[in-house]
Amino acid sequence: MSARIISGTETAKQISEELKNEVAELKATRNIVPGLATVIVGCDGPSLTYVGNKVTMCEKLNMRPERHDLPADISEKELLALIACLNADPAVHGLLVQLPLPKHICETRVLMAISPLKDVDGLHPVNVGKVMIGEDGFLPCTPAGIHELLLRAEVAMEGAEVVVVGRSNIVGKPLASLLMQKRPGANATVTICHSQTRDLKQHTLRADVLIAAIGRPRCITADMVREGTVVIDVGTNEVGKTAEGKRILVGDVDFEAVKEKAAVITPVPGGVGPMTIIMLMKNTLKAAKLALGA
Ligand code: NDP
Repeated sequence: MSARIISGTETAKQISEELKNEVAELKATRNIVPGLATVIVGCDGPSLTYVGNKVTMCEKLNMRPERHDLPADISEKELLALIACLNADPAVHGLLVQLPLPKHICETRVLMAISPLKDVDGLHPVNVGKVMIGEDGFLPCTPAGIHELLLRAEVAMEGAEVVVVGRSNIVGKPLASLLMQKRPGANATVTICHSQTRDLKQHTLRADVLIAAIGRPRCITADMVREGTVVIDVGTNEVGKTAEGKRILVGDVDFEAVKEKAAVITPVPGGVGPMTIIMLMKNTLKAAKLALGA
C-alpha cells in the first residue's frame, strides 16, 4: 500500500493563517508589528533565494522585513557592528545572519554576537543549550518544523524508535535533542547516525520514524526501510535544471520506491522546506511577544 503523504506546504499554509491572526491581534492590541532583520554577506545564489523567500513570507504575514545586503569583502568587525546596532533596535525583534559566510569571517563569533532574545534561527549557544535541557528558547527552524509536522500529522512519537541520519548543528543534533524531550510529539528513543556509522541499514531498519538529513540524493533506498515506517526527508539536493532553468530538487530518500513501503512520508519539495520558513516566522512573532514581556 502506498504511504500517506504529509504535505508541508498545506501544513505551513494552515500555520500561516494562524500566525496572520496573531500578528493582527498584536497590532490591534499593542500596536506592534514583528520585525525580522536578515543580513546577507555577498551574493551566493541559493542564499539570495532563501533570504528573498523569508522577506516575501514576512510581507505575506504582515510582519516587517528589514534586509541588509552586505558586500562579500565586508570585514568581520563591520558585520559585528551592524549586529550590535540591530540588537539594540527595538523595532527589530528577530535577527538572522544567512549562512554560509565568506571564509574570512568567523561564523561562531557572528552567531554568538546575536542577542539570544532575537536569535530566531535558534543557533546561538544559549538557545542550543536550552534545547538540550528542555527549556523554552528559540528552537532551530528545521527541527521545529519537523516536530510541528509530526504533531499535526498525529504521528505516535512517545516511546517510538527514531533514527536520525545526519548530525549537523542545524538539523540532526538539535532534532535529536528535541525528539527525546518529555513533551508532546516527542518522548522518543533516538539514535543518531552519520557518515562513520558502521552499518547504517541495520539502524534504519529498526526505525519507527526515520529522518534523513544527509545531503545526498536518494541515499535512503527501499531496502533500508521497514514496512510501515514514518519517513521524514529533510534533504534538498539539486540534481539539475529544467529547460526553463528551474532547479530540480530531490530529497535524501528514494521517494518513489520508499513510498510503497512507508506508512507516512514527506515529499521533496513541499515537505520539510515550507515548514522551516514558517517556523522562522513563528519564532519572530514569539520574539516580538517576548520583547513586550507577553
Ligand atoms: P550537513 O552536510 O551539515 O550534514 C550532513 C550529515 O549527513 C553529516 O552528519 C554527515 O556525517 C551525514 N552523512 C553524510 N553522508 C552520509 C552517509 N553516506 N551515511 C550516513 N550519514 C551521512 O547537512 P545539513 O544537516 O545542513 O543538511 C542536510 C540536508 O538537509 C541537505 O540536503 C540540506 O540541503 C537539507 N536541509 C534542508 C532544510 C529544509 O528546510 N528542508 C534545512 C536545512 C538543511 P558526518 O557528520 O560524519 O560528516
